Amino acid sequence: MTDFDPHNTNEGKDKDLEGIIRPQELEDFTGQSEIISNLRVYIQAAKMRGEALDHTIFHGPPGLGKTTLAHIIANEMGVNLKITSGPVLDRPGDLAGLLTSLETGDVLFIDEIHRLSPEVEEYLYSAMEDYVIDIMIDKGPGARSVRISLNPFTLVGATTRSGLLTAPLRERFSINCALEYYDTEDLMKIVTRSAGIMKIGIDKDAAREVALRSRGTPRIANALLKRVRDFAQVMGDGHIDLKIARYALDKLNIDTRGLDSIDNKILRTIISTFKGGPVGANTIATAIGEDQGTFEEVYEPFLIKEGFIVRTQRGRIATELSYRHLGLDGYKGMEDTLF
Ligand code: ADP
Repeated sequence: MTDFDPHNTNEGKDKDLEGIIRPQELEDFTGQSEIISNLRVYIQAAKMRGEALDHTIFHGPPGLGKTTLAHIIANEMGVNLKITSGPVLDRPGDLAGLLTSLETGDVLFIDEIHRLSPEVEEYLYSAMEDYVIDIMIDKGPGARSVRISLNPFTLVGATTRSGLLTAPLRERFSINCALEYYDTEDLMKIVTRSAGIMKIGIDKDAAREVALRSRGTPRIANALLKRVRDFAQVMGDGHIDLKIARYALDKLNIDTRGLDSIDNKILRTIISTFKGGPVGANTIATAIGEDQGTFEEVYEPFLIKEGFIVRTQRGRIATELSYRHLGLDGYKGMEDTLF
């Protein structure tokens, strides 16, 4: 059996389901309460003034709801949503085409906005600030720039790597929201809601079990629910109880703390290869075959939040919990590593 890959769960027909499960209104969006209540105010105020919502950026690890919030903003504002991503927009002409197609108040969502090319990013500045773009026509001595006015629009950006955003781009977003991992209660609500939409019966303790193993992430919770449903259909009558949930989740190699195979590899690397730490982020990232930024912004925050590693001046240290989790001896305490 292959490991469950939470980053590859939206393939094929699951994509249709994805559209149905995705919350469409602020009302349906669980958790992130501070962000939601603020957005509610900003959206209502913009509507009262008859203006486009200010440019908004969401940052946080994958699967926490950044794209979903872009959909919700467009819905609540009653405008169209155009979706693109940093790596796709590689020529200024592509961006110009998109921007000129926007109607008044529309939302342009750019996922992975930290991956825009500097050239394209440059174009965005005047578009965001003054709703104009200057396009160069011709080359050489005949080259001239033509100014094109745009309809007022809202740029919604999403990034998993806020550290990579350039200062001029970051400053142009006046609404800035950092999404947090979800707690078990909120993930239970999400699992129960999705099960309802998919017409799956699930017991409360089974929903809790799925929530507990979801790495604080709604996308993983929904993906696990779909796989657990498969086991329930084939091995039972389709209803998910605690026994079938546990059986399926074990088969998927999701451990009882929700850590996936990469999380476990990180802990094992710190403990076995680097004697528990302290070890630098760059060294850990190289050892597990990831880049440092991905380690720091995608994997590490959850491991720190759950108390598996701590970050010190001298590097990352595995906590006693990590040793216990992996069933390893040799925890030597923190005293001589902290200072
Ligand atoms: P991101 O853009 O941050 O990677 P998405 O917005 O694509 O994440 O969310 C992944 C999936 O998780 C969505 O399709 C949606 O069904 C679900 N989801 C995310 N956040 C929530 C939430 N707060 N409540 C309910 N479902 C959510």
